[in-house]
Amino acid sequence: MSDIINNLNIILRRMEVACRDSGRDPKEVKLLLATKTVPADRIKVALEAGQTLIAENKVQEIKEKYEPLQSVPHTSHFIGHLQSNKIKDILKYDISCIQSLDRLDVAEKLQQRLVYEGKKIEVLIQVNTSGEESKFGTHPDQAIDLVRAVSEFSNIEIKGLMTIGLFSAEIEKVRPCFRLLKEIQQEVIAQNIPNVTMRELSMGMSGDLETAIQEGATIVRVGTAIFGQRIYADSYYWDETKA
Ligand SMILES: *Cc1c(COP(=O)(O)O)cnc(C)c1O
Repeated sequence: MSDIINNLNIILRRMEVACRDSGRDPKEVKLLLATKTVPADRIKVALEAGQTLIAENKVQEIKEKYEPLQSVPHTSHFIGHLQSNKIKDILKYDISCIQSLDRLDVAEKLQQRLVYEGKKIEVLIQVNTSGEESKFGTHPDQAIDLVRAVSEFSNIEIKGLMTIGLFSAEIEKVRPCFRLLKEIQQEVIAQNIPNVTMRELSMGMSGDLETAIQEGATIVRVGTAIFGQRIYADSYYWDETKA
């Protein structure tokens, strides 16, 4: 378990250096622990070491780890593919922000359910900035229209944007994805849409968090570099055909 503490310290240090190198205040950038496939006892180690923000991709895993994690205070986001038939379940487990809203019909279902339960929820709009077909997210050209449409739903509070960068070892091919998300953020801000704030840019993972921070990330989502390699390929979580 001490590997987790070690890895955490390395990540926090990487974030700090990236902030310093790009002239940003480290307080502007939050670390989110991407905990898919990680057992609750290992997540607990990170929470007990002072981390507060975690996120799952699948409702089943949220459910399984919900009770075991109750003893440690934390905030939970959802970063998996959001499907209409899972909304009811997601709302049972104190998820404060859905980072992966990418379709109007799902937003509509979400709004209906929120009204029914008398709840509100924060969301980020997920944008597919890499153009890879396997990735979820709205097309960059449609992102602003989606923000505008979702902003009409009184129980959904848009707080920003999320993206998964291109899978590439060549960081200069990943950077344009993050830059594009920042550009969309700026365009949305310029349009001054009621009920929309654009404070959060959730981008950057284990391999590319420095680049994301340089390009303006306020949330980096890190799994592997803290908890170790997963048995499942990420396509299991990201591929449309397997979700
Ligand atoms: C798994 C996952 C991450 C973390 O990826 P790592 O490469 O393990 O750091 C970030 N975002 C999303 C949406 C994920 O599914």
